[in-house]
Amino acid sequence: MDLDVSLHIAGRWRGGGGGESLPILNPATGESIGRVAVATRDDLDAALAAAERGFAAWRKVSAFERGKVLRRAASLMRERTEAIAHTMTREQGKPLAESRIETGVAADIIEWFAEEGRRAYGRVIPARAEGVLQIVTREPVGPVAAFTPWNFPINQAVRKISAALCTGCSVVLKGPEDTPASCAELVRAFLDAGVPPEALSLVYGDPAAISGHLIPHPVIRKITFTGSTPVGKELAALAGRHMKRATMELGGHAPAIVFDDADVDQAVRVLSANKYRNAGQVCVAPTRFLVQERVYDRFVDGFVAASKALVVGDGLDPETGMGPLVHGRRVEAMEAFVADAEAKGARLATGGKRIGNRGHFFEPTVFTDVPLDARIMNEEPFGPIAAIRRFSTDDEALSEANRLPFGLAAYAYTRSATRATRVGAGVEAGMVSINHHGIALPETPFGGVKESGYGSEGGSEAIEAYLVTKFVTQASA
Ligand code: NAD
Repeated sequence: MDLDVSLHIAGRWRGGGGGESLPILNPATGESIGRVAVATRDDLDAALAAAERGFAAWRKVSAFERGKVLRRAASLMRERTEAIAHTMTREQGKPLAESRIETGVAADIIEWFAEEGRRAYGRVIPARAEGVLQIVTREPVGPVAAFTPWNFPINQAVRKISAALCTGCSVVLKGPEDTPASCAELVRAFLDAGVPPEALSLVYGDPAAISGHLIPHPVIRKITFTGSTPVGKELAALAGRHMKRATMELGGHAPAIVFDDADVDQAVRVLSANKYRNAGQVCVAPTRFLVQERVYDRFVDGFVAASKALVVGDGLDPETGMGPLVHGRRVEAMEAFVADAEAKGARLATGGKRIGNRGHFFEPTVFTDVPLDARIMNEEPFGPIAAIRRFSTDDEALSEANRLPFGLAAYAYTRSATRATRVGAGVEAGMVSINHHGIALPETPFGGVKESGYGSEGGSEAIEAYLVTKFVTQASA
């Protein structure tokens, strides 16, 4: 059945005021599977006015009651997992098993925030004079403009919506036009659970036009964006010009350091699974594999074998281990990375080509002995390409890990506690995972440093961005 994705504005699911819509394509076939409505400027203004009213109403609801509503939304996501996961795979391409996990994890995230919202504590500061009461309270920042991408249509949105709603903020979400239907189902779960309709709007359309209108608008008090570093810099600059708070979850280029005392088989298993998850379209995907000389050949052999064994196909097929890339642009980007790496002298160990001429499939690709000036060593591939490079000393690995302007995730494999501690302390990244893949749980911080952005979308830090601090001092009259 064709997908028909509406906007949710001022409490109503409806088409855009201009009657325009965009096609939704199945990346496994290239065929149109539905349409998504496009918001006009008037639609955005209606959403903004609703966000102002929705905020006034929702902030008055106690954190306890807000938590109950959010927990109902989590239950709805669990009940609806099968249908939502199916929709996600059709529009995004990832294997059904990954879509099911993403939908289920959304419920876990909502529940975490449902509880955390009740812990937005203030404090009392001892006064200098008798009869003076000095109170610090935390208040919701106000209506939030959120912008989320297509790689995790639900996960990227649920972190922002949950953190905003649990603290009493309202939200205008610009979801991903490439994968709008599963994101819309997330919004529907919140609304069906009892979030006041005016507190949560969903729009789609021209991303630059929408962000250009929402960010400067006086109703909006906070911006949150997940996407590429160049777009993030534009939006952060606009937010800065209008003195709006911003959280930026941007690109990464995660180093994965495999020391010569590591459990190499474990490193191959975990790192290859995470390289190819979601066809590599993951901001925390391991990208630069730095492998110490003594275990280099063994790691390469294992990684190449794992890459060749991966079954690439339609995500709806239960045999599929890796689905297509989300759109044709990503396939072209992979071809350009491959051509550049070959031209710069990297050795292609496996893959390197698109698969077939239907859909956006690309081979799991491994380059070894990759020179530092290859684009793949410097720009986020955001696809199924692994770049492996050897190192001899620990210092060399650490300095390569920190060479790029990005600092999102980093990985290391070693049996040495000294090395593990050194990597944990020495790598410039927002998240460092050693000897396992332990990133992105609801209760742990999620965010980057350097050009990977600022702010956190997980752990107790995540709600800070949605709260402002108020100091009230009161003397007895
Ligand atoms: P893109 O930069 O055109 O879009 C990335 C995302 O940003 C999309 O969701 C898009 O709708 C949004 N966007 C773009 N311009 C915007 C604007 N002016 N205002 C508001 N939103 C805007 O690139 P793409 O071809 O879709 O994806 C390629 C690159 O994007 C990747 O190389 C990757 O670096 C980055 N990306 C990162 C993440 C992430 O999780 N950090 C997710 C998706 C894409």
